[in-house]
Amino acid sequence: MLTNDHGICIRAVDYSETSQVVTFFARQTGKVPVIAKGAKRQKSSFGGPIEIFSYGDIVFSDSGRDKLATLAEFEPLAGMVNYPVLSADIFALNACLLAAELVNALVNDYDPHPGLFDSLLQFIHDASQERSSNDEHRKILANLIVFQQVLLTEIGLCPVLDYCVNCRNRFDSRWPETYFSNNARGLICRDCQGAFPDKIRLTAESAKCLSDSKLLASASQNTLKNVEDILIRYITDMLGRPPRMAKYILNV
Ligand SMILES: [Zn+2]
Repeated sequence: MLTNDHGICIRAVDYSETSQVVTFFARQTGKVPVIAKGAKRQKSSFGGPIEIFSYGDIVFSDSGRDKLATLAEFEPLAGMVNYPVLSADIFALNACLLAAELVNALVNDYDPHPGLFDSLLQFIHDASQERSSNDEHRKILANLIVFQQVLLTEIGLCPVLDYCVNCRNRFDSRWPETYFSNNARGLICRDCQGAFPDKIRLTAESAKCLSDSKLLASASQNTLKNVEDILIRYITDMLGRPPRMAKYILNV
């Protein structure tokens, strides 16, 4: 059976001299690993090796899902990703690589998430636009945080960010102290924090941004890094290891 979909390449590895195993995140199908036979041949029917963030129409034959599907056609669509800008801007590239890595690590094969697909494509599109100012990296970081919250929400693992997980008191920006606990999966207030040894204290600005993502757009670089650090610790706890690309975002 042949399946048609729109897909974005979130991982590509060499399989043999001439073939690749490519993981597409496809709008209707979800994450689908395929073998792209002959992709590295000079006269490849896919127009050459398939690179990460390649985006386009895909046709693949689904062999019952217990083994790799076979890519039959790939027709790149122009306009969504500006590859020259993305490859020249290391921070933007690393942010996109982290987003792709997280989708690959957290989404199950053949589990469709069209909303998440649209968010990923939009994130990569925005990150690959020409930069007009130095402020653009701050915007990419803010967009990355929003994307990760969409991802965690889509897979049903978003932490609780609008009330204390323990006493259920609604978060208020006047809280004198706010904490985050991976074990509790969300915010913890000052009265409850004693029961959560793994908690981390948030700055007032970070707590506000975590509970209201609309504030991220105007947040300072330091606040954004603090919020991203909290999310990466949370994701690290879930995966049992840090995402490979995380250090390139946090240590800049
Ligand atoms: Zn509480």
